[in-house]
Amino acid sequence: GLGGEVVEADAVCLSIGPWGPLAENWFPSINVPMQGIKSTSIVWPVREETKTEGVALFCGEDDRYNTHIEVYPRPDGMIYCCGVGGSDYINADDLREGRFLTSGCDPNQKRVEAATKALHQISHSYKSLTPEVSQACMRPCPPDALPIMGDVPGCNGAYLNVGHNCWGILWAPAAGKTMAELITCGSSKININPFDVRRFGVNEMAGGGKKGGRGRKRGKESVGEQW
Ligand SMILES: Cc1cc2nc3c(=O)[nH]c(=O)nc-3n(C[C@H](O)[C@H](O)[C@H](O)COP(=O)(O)OP(=O)(O)OC[C@H]3O[C@@H](n4cnc5c(N)ncnc54)[C@H](O)[C@@H]3O)c2cc1C
Repeated sequence: GLGGEVVEADAVCLSIGPWGPLAENWFPSINVPMQGIKSTSIVWPVREETKTEGVALFCGEDDRYNTHIEVYPRPDGMIYCCGVGGSDYINADDLREGRFLTSGCDPNQKRVEAATKALHQISHSYKSLTPEVSQACMRPCPPDALPIMGDVPGCNGAYLNVGHNCWGILWAPAAGKTMAELITCGSSKININPFDVRRFGVNEMAGGGKKGGRGRKRGKESVGEQW
């Protein structure tokens, strides 16, 4: 864990989102290709009228601000806005080193300003307001846009549940149930074969269980760094 604490366990399931490539450091048999898409979002202050509005608003591309804002009212009267444009693309090497994990996943102030202008254009209610919170989060994106779920080859009791792209909130209950079945019963009723980490190749162990050489392998075939 982040605190360096050792916790003994029969089974370990890594649900570490975009930082899935960190698992390559712990399990040399696997390749976990991943791109992190870091996006800014903003939360606006409470407005009484928003409490009664249970509808979300999805806007098209606004070329003036390079935004396509999505506006979600919250039951407490705040609104959450994403789709502010200008996301940053973070490569697997940075994620494998744990970058942005404990610090640095900061909002892009220029995108906050752009989204503020875009919302001011479409809402009289919010015209005089500024965002209360600016934040950023990271989408975990494997190269084939499918999640990576299942057991870790070569390590009994280790499981991966990462790479859920832009659907990780929606999929969370199904992913949780599936992983629980897999861990406690040995298999899941849901077919997760397409999500097997083996699709990115399994590394043959070099002496001492270390990963041999640079580049990725798909099965025994060397496919370089780009896969
Ligand atoms: C702007 C934006 C809008 C989105 N909108 C939607 C949406 O409308 N619907 C939807 O379904 N999804 C949406 N998503 C995607 C969704 O947020 C993700 O798919 C989801 O959060 C992934 O969940 P996760 O638990 O796998 O990873 P995360 O939520 O990223 O959680 C992983 C956790 O693991 C921790 N971690 C990593 N490494 C370590 C370590 N070594 N030790 C300890 N802890 C570690 C991290 O700190 C983090 O807390 C959106 C994402 C973004 C960025």
